[in-house]
Amino acid sequence: MNYRHAFHAGNFADVMKHALLVRILAYLQRKDTPLRVIDTHAGIGLYDLAGDEAGRTGEWAEGIGRLDEAFAPEVEEILAPYRRVIADVRARHGDTAYPGSPAIVREVLRRQDRGVFVELHPADHAVLSEAFNEVANLKVMHLDGWTALHALIPPKEKRGLVLIDPPYEKPNELERLGTELIAALRKWPTGVYAGWYPVKDVGSVDAVAARLHQESPRPGLRLELYVDDPRDPTRLNGSGLFVLNPPWSLQQEAETLLPALAERLSRGGYGAYRCEAFGPPP
Ligand code: SAM
Repeated sequence: MNYRHAFHAGNFADVMKHALLVRILAYLQRKDTPLRVIDTHAGIGLYDLAGDEAGRTGEWAEGIGRLDEAFAPEVEEILAPYRRVIADVRARHGDTAYPGSPAIVREVLRRQDRGVFVELHPADHAVLSEAFNEVANLKVMHLDGWTALHALIPPKEKRGLVLIDPPYEKPNELERLGTELIAALRKWPTGVYAGWYPVKDVGSVDAVAARLHQESPRPGLRLELYVDDPRDPTRLNGSGLFVLNPPWSLQQEAETLLPALAERLSRGGYGAYRCEAFGPPP
């Protein structure tokens, strides 16, 4: 387990993933009924962009660091809840703080909602646990996220979101994402699932997407942001999110947000996006 998210916090992939995560949560919270949020690969929860790890890669400067200037009003409307979370986290933890998914979930959850954060790395789990386990409606678990996923669904709240955000250190993790999403949908068909993946070799993403197209019993979206030419499979050229049982509004929101992010976060002038629906109609 070499991957440490502190080196990558606030990069272009985090911006895309976290802005969409907040949109999904905002949609689910239109109803008062309780939610369960399960984060299977949680990281340490909160990052310092002025810290040693973030400073060594400087990735955040090409991600959240490029969001200072406002976008067009229709894009700002979609980004507003994400910007609000960042502002709240910075008000509490300082101007160089950046929220990982646990800190985002913590900001957004209401009294009636519950969050479960799973992290396997012992040191990262310890940091996460120290910061979040004391919060009344949050629980931090030291487990393998894939195993925990199936043990934790369906939750008693019956409504909620699972975020699956593995480090992709193992060669088969992308295929595994597809397999686990289909298995999880069979166990909890009405849950919303967001599975993040890196885009290096587009062909291997296409293979997982094709499988989801054919086998997913529920509707889904394939959302991608490219900041570099995807013809070079040795680099992280883009970032994707498979969303199963997406909020009905998410596709349209992504179609407004992703082109704006592609333009703003592109490296060397290359920026693109993808927003495709699959599976049976809702
Ligand atoms: N979701 C976080 C966010 O958005 O802020 C980032 C998570 S990072 C991409 C992936 C995390 O998964 C790392 O902290 C890593 O230690 C952890 N991890 C690696 N293998 C794991 C496993 N089998 N189960 C749970 N966590 C794991």
